[in-house]
Amino acid sequence: MPADRAFACDDCGHRWYYDRRRCPACGHGAESAGTVPLETGEVVAMTTVETTPPDVRAPNHLALARFDDVRLVAQAVDGDLAPGDAVRFEGSHRLREGRDRTDPRLVAVDDP
Ligand SMILES: [Zn+2]
Repeated sequence: MPADRAFACDDCGHRWYYDRRRCPACGHGAESAGTVPLETGEVVAMTTVETTPPDVRAPNHLALARFDDVRLVAQAVDGDLAPGDAVRFEGSHRLREGRDRTDPRLVAVDDP
């Protein structure tokens, strides 16, 4: 699934980010869950990984971010984000060299 989408329970509407077998709120099977776009979130914490696998960028800037009730860890475009900053997913980046799949990374929102 693209990095900028979350799962949404088709029974109760609860949203989550990482693969699950069941909705954590109501227990409904996740196989029928839909997906929803994540719009504007807020940075909770930042970290930078300096030592990465050979095909992953270094330094690798990672953000723990909150999109309402959905919390996730995602790559940030740069290390300038700080807790409390408004962010959204943007762009098309490869996590690993040689991989076809691309995903957006978190960038600051100037006017949330
Ligand atoms: Zn549910």
